[in-house]
Amino acid sequence: MTVITNHMPTAELQALDAAHHMHPFSTQDDLAKQGARVITRADGVWIQDSEGNKIIDGMAGLWCVNVGYGRDRLADVAARQMKELPYYNTFFMTTHVPAIALSQKLAELAPGDLNHVFYAGSGSEANDTNIRMVRTYWAEKGKPSKKVIISRKNAYHGSSVGSASLGGMTGMHAQGGLPIADIHHIDQPNYWAEGGDQSPEEFGLERARQLEQAINDIGEDNVAAFIAEPVQGAGGVIVPPETYWPEIQRICDKYEILLIADEVICGFGRTGNWFGSETVGWRPDIMTIAKGLSSGYAPIGGSIVSDEVAEVIGGCEFNHGYTYSSHPVAAAVALENLNIMQEENIVGHVQNEVGPYLKEKWEALIDHPMVGEANIVGMMGSIALTPHKESRAAFAADAGTVGYMCRERCFANNLVMRHVGDRMIISPPLVMTKGEVDVLMERAVKSLDEGMAAAKDAGLWVPAS
Ligand SMILES: *Cc1c(COP(=O)(O)O)cnc(C)c1O
Repeated sequence: MTVITNHMPTAELQALDAAHHMHPFSTQDDLAKQGARVITRADGVWIQDSEGNKIIDGMAGLWCVNVGYGRDRLADVAARQMKELPYYNTFFMTTHVPAIALSQKLAELAPGDLNHVFYAGSGSEANDTNIRMVRTYWAEKGKPSKKVIISRKNAYHGSSVGSASLGGMTGMHAQGGLPIADIHHIDQPNYWAEGGDQSPEEFGLERARQLEQAINDIGEDNVAAFIAEPVQGAGGVIVPPETYWPEIQRICDKYEILLIADEVICGFGRTGNWFGSETVGWRPDIMTIAKGLSSGYAPIGGSIVSDEVAEVIGGCEFNHGYTYSSHPVAAAVALENLNIMQEENIVGHVQNEVGPYLKEKWEALIDHPMVGEANIVGMMGSIALTPHKESRAAFAADAGTVGYMCRERCFANNLVMRHVGDRMIISPPLVMTKGEVDVLMERAVKSLDEGMAAAKDAGLWVPAS
């Protein structure tokens, strides 16, 4: 048997990886040719690869390592819990201390009457729970026709069949027979790409009112819920115009539908409050959580549910659950992660210290010749790349061609910054210092300069007509 360690030559690790490991959201053949980057260790906001490169992580892993890497406390808690009680379920009239303690903590942190938690192993699973929970809620209230869940195009709610159906990614719907029945998608509030001649304010209202239109078209008696990320993450960190959020809340209040805030990215400090709903002024009935809940140190997700929803669901047997719902080790790690966030006032750090500093630097990217808009909320930011700012033009090339070139330059410059089409996005660990923000920004600008030069060399500096 081959013992695989960090000390094997990179090329050997890459060959073994390509031979046996299937990567998510990747073209396996391309990856096999190129070779995956082998990440070996990490500390703070820095990751290291098998060649010894020190890379600044502008994405906090996958939007999740909020407290940064290398936290001994989380490792110690996991070890202690593994020895004491590595696993037990909570299905059959049993419970355990990590589940009790984490639920109490989440009820304390979550706004309003969101006081009850149903656990999952991931954000995808949690959103699958939500589909069944909101439909069961209405069935229990004697309104079984209220089944349709309204979502948005280009939303990301996970990769399982249910959650990817909620999501609005066309590439995902194209594979495997999605979406499932009774999911309806309205347009996203992406002003840069879709705002046309409207003002941002008008556009924000128009996109929010599509929810009202959809409710009227489908019939109020058939609609169960609306689901949205307070700020769309994987769709490209789309920050809607200010008019959007309050109008959504108004519509959810007016009609009898539940509001599900998908807080998987926005939750746990990312936007400068504990939850994105607080930043945007929503009062959700259910919040989806995962990612920053454990800072990625253990796989755990869940749904935080209002008193009202919990009471209705509590009246029936809810035939739903996962083997790893409220997994004791994951729950213990998540609780300790939240303790760290409170003790170090990491939300305050985002709101008052590093957040405003990063915002100032990030928004200054608007002066770069290739940047058409620069948006940021807390510690999630995006820029739109364009060959012609005034007309908000896309490139004449396939969407994502230039974005990919920039991402390649980031890679070469030891910066993790992702591209979504021709938007570049960041979501760094929340513990990043101002000095580290300077490093991130310096590498980002260098990568943009080089990306622009590469685009010009390739003859791609052409606006789409
Ligand atoms: C990542 C993500 C999910 C899915 O979470 P997984 O843990 O990957 O299943 C759901 N919603 C949003 C907003 C996400 O960013």
